[in-house]
Amino acid sequence: MSSLNETLGVAWHYLAARRLQRLRTREQIQAHQQRRWHAMHARIADASPFYAAYRQLPLAQWPLMEKREWMHHFDTINTAGITLSQAYALAEQAERTRNFRPGLGNVTVGLSTGTSGARGVFLASRSERQRWAATLLAKLLPGGVLARERVALLLRAGSNLYDTVHGARLQFRYVDLLQPFEQVLRQLETYDPTILVGPAQALALVASAQANSTTHITPRRIISAAEVLDPLDRAVMERTWNVRVEQIYQATEGFLGQTCAHGTIHLNEDCIILERDWIDRTHRRFVPIITDLYRFTQPVVRYRLNDVLIERATACPCGSAHVALEQIEGREDDIVWLHDAANAKLRPVFADSLARIVLNADAAIRDYQIEQCDVQSLSIATEPAPDINREQAIRSALATFFVTLQISVPTIVFGAMPEHELGSKRRRVRGLAALRDQKHA
Ligand SMILES: [Zn+2]
Repeated sequence: MSSLNETLGVAWHYLAARRLQRLRTREQIQAHQQRRWHAMHARIADASPFYAAYRQLPLAQWPLMEKREWMHHFDTINTAGITLSQAYALAEQAERTRNFRPGLGNVTVGLSTGTSGARGVFLASRSERQRWAATLLAKLLPGGVLARERVALLLRAGSNLYDTVHGARLQFRYVDLLQPFEQVLRQLETYDPTILVGPAQALALVASAQANSTTHITPRRIISAAEVLDPLDRAVMERTWNVRVEQIYQATEGFLGQTCAHGTIHLNEDCIILERDWIDRTHRRFVPIITDLYRFTQPVVRYRLNDVLIERATACPCGSAHVALEQIEGREDDIVWLHDAANAKLRPVFADSLARIVLNADAAIRDYQIEQCDVQSLSIATEPAPDINREQAIRSALATFFVTLQISVPTIVFGAMPEHELGSKRRRVRGLAALRDQKHA
């Protein structure tokens, strides 16, 4: 496919994505979703053996999916007739050779880097790749594709998904995080991006390097993608570059949302239908279940993500009718489950609350790690390591917090900070998956 055709493809999707931004009311959004799903469900049922039986049923009766089932039924869910072993073989070859060009015909294969151990592969056709890039552009560059920008995308694993966009004025460059960090910094310096997009923790490392004068770049926009934005990481970026960090909420399963001019994350309900699996209704916490209105090669239907989102209590001042989030709190695996004061039930303690207590207990803390060992003990590490007085301050702040929540106070042990590899996803708070499963059982 020629570069001209590729550019025209992106441009076409870009115009369509811009049109969708005119969805101003809930009614308009819902009418658009119904129209899209009406067309999509028939196409999916025709082409996907797994979904053929659901054709006559309303969406609410299509099966719920989680990553494990999605991979288990991979061969029959996808509409391209690709088997899981074919897809793995190709994705692994691409990871090994760092060459992300090859695909199966028109379809590209990517590996998703799960933090919970479940590895996934995802498929996208050329048109789906173009649409992804165009939607990203329409959302990120409302001024238009003619803007003179150099966009650097920091990614852990490439895919030719990301090589799609290039024009004379607008440039995209992909920077591989699975190479020595020195090289990442040199590449960024040479390119000097105006917009820097990447996982929060990698962006924070670049910001720290700049704070230590090991590198110097002058981006005008910083966009954190793909994972939770920790307050510590946000602070170092905002201090270094003196800009407000924007966020894209993006997963293998799609481009799910982004911040507006007021810094609120809105979900892309023009591309997805959202259902909420409430885990704490009083505090508006839910796990999203999404149905993608455009993904056809590997349909995403009623897919339960592993994220915990907090919905805003009030409408966003920007006036958008799209669901507004207070925060992407973290992954469901980051929830720590502890016994209540009566030792009768498991109660959730959320990652951000724990982090806040620990950080507030000691102003000197630059980094932290909280890990659940079992149902009655937590292991905590901080940078710098706390002295005996600070350990005591953290213990007593946590004890007060647990007592207020009527939760049985766990034993706290202090350990050493783990090494952090650039190419891996870091989770600062880890619960025990076994307790989550026990809770759901
Ligand atoms: Zn808003």
